Amino acid sequence: MKTEVRPRPIAAAEVLPENGDRLIDQFGRVFDYLRVAVNEKCNLRCIYCMPEEGIDFRPEAKLLTADEIIRIVTIAAGLGVRKIRFTGGEPLIHRQIIEMVSAAASTPDIESIHLTTNGVLFEKKAEALFEAGLRGVNISLDTLDHQKFIDITRRKGLDQVLAGVRTALSLPFPSVKLNVVFMRGFNDAEISDFVELTKESPLVVRFIELMPFDAHQIWKTGKFYGADRIVEELKRLHPDLEPADGTATEHHVFRVPGYKGKVAVIPAFSRTLCGNCNRVRLTADGKLRNCLYSDNEFSLRDMMRNGSSDEEIANLMREAMWLKPRDGWEAQRGGGQRRESMTQIGG
Ligand code: SAM
Ligand code: SF4
Repeated sequence: MKTEVRPRPIAAAEVLPENGDRLIDQFGRVFDYLRVAVNEKCNLRCIYCMPEEGIDFRPEAKLLTADEIIRIVTIAAGLGVRKIRFTGGEPLIHRQIIEMVSAAASTPDIESIHLTTNGVLFEKKAEALFEAGLRGVNISLDTLDHQKFIDITRRKGLDQVLAGVRTALSLPFPSVKLNVVFMRGFNDAEISDFVELTKESPLVVRFIELMPFDAHQIWKTGKFYGADRIVEELKRLHPDLEPADGTATEHHVFRVPGYKGKVAVIPAFSRTLCGNCNRVRLTADGKLRNCLYSDNEFSLRDMMRNGSSDEEIANLMREAMWLKPRDGWEAQRGGGQRRESMTQIGG
C-alpha cells in the first residue's frame, strides 16, 4: 500500500533564528505594517459595526495602556515594522492619542504614522496630530447625505466629518483617504458624488466591501456589494477611468483623467489580496492577530504584565506571524473565540 507522504509542517523555532529579526511567514510574506486599536469605545454606532447600545466594552484595565502600546511599537520596529496605524474604536476619543502619535513617530526605524478615524473630532485635533508626526489619515465616511449619515452611524455629525476632511486636505499630510463601506441600496447611488471629490483634491476614495464582523450580522441583509461589481459600476459611470498606482492591498486603483485624486476598490471580503498582506494587528486588549479573519490570537498584554522581556515578546510576535494562515478563508476556518465587533479589532 502506498502511503501518502505529507510535507512535515515546519516549526517556527526551526527557521526563525536564521531569518534574523523580521516578521515573516511560511508563505514568504514580510510584515512591516502594524495596526493598533487603541480603544474599543466610539462616539458613533455604525450599523455594520456595533449595536445602538454598544458592545460589552472591556474595562479599561484590560486594555493596553499608552505605555504598553508604545512598548509594542518599539519591539515591532526592531522586527522590521516601519508603518504604524492607530485605529480603534475611535482613536480620537483616546486621551493620549497625540502623545502616542508623537512617541511612535520618534521611535527609531518607524517611518510613518497613520490614523483611521470616523473624522468627527479630526478638525479640532488635526494640527496637533500633524505636529506630533502624523503623516496619513483615513477618514471613514459612507455617505454625503445628512439623513443617511444618521441612518448609518445612528448619530449626527456629517458636517464635522466634512470639516475634518477639508482640514486634512488643507494641511500638508502626504496621504488623505476616505474609507467608504459600499452597500447596496444604501450608498451605491452616491458613487459618482464620491468620485467627484477626487477632482480638485489629492484625495484617495476607497470603496470597501462590507464584511461580516458585526454580531448582529447586518451584512446578511442584502447590502453586500462585491468588489468586481463595484469596479464594473465605476467603469460604467466613468468609462474614461484609467489604472493608477496604489498600496499593496489596494487592488483596483483608478484615476479619472485630469483629476488630482484617485479611486480604489478594496476586496475586504473577497480576500483576493491576501498574498500581498503585510499587516500585523494589535487589538485594544493587547492580542496580536495575524489575520483580520483569524480568531486565534496571541496575548502580548499578558506577556507584558507577567514581566516578560522584550526579546520574549518579540519571539511570540515572530511565532504568531509565522503561523499566519495562507489566506483569510483558511483563517476563518481556523476556529478561536469570535470577536463581537470590528471596533475590537480596528478594521
Ligand atoms: N472608528 C474609526 C473609523 O470608523 O474609522 C476606526 C475604527 S473602524 C472599526 C475602522 C474601519 O473599519 C472603518 O473604516 C469602518 O468603516 C470599517 N468597518 C467596520 N465594520 C466594518 C464592516 N462590517 N465591514 C467593512 N468595514 C467595516
Ligand atoms: Fe465607531 Fe468606526 Fe465602528 Fe463606526 S466603524 S461604530 S466609527 S468604530
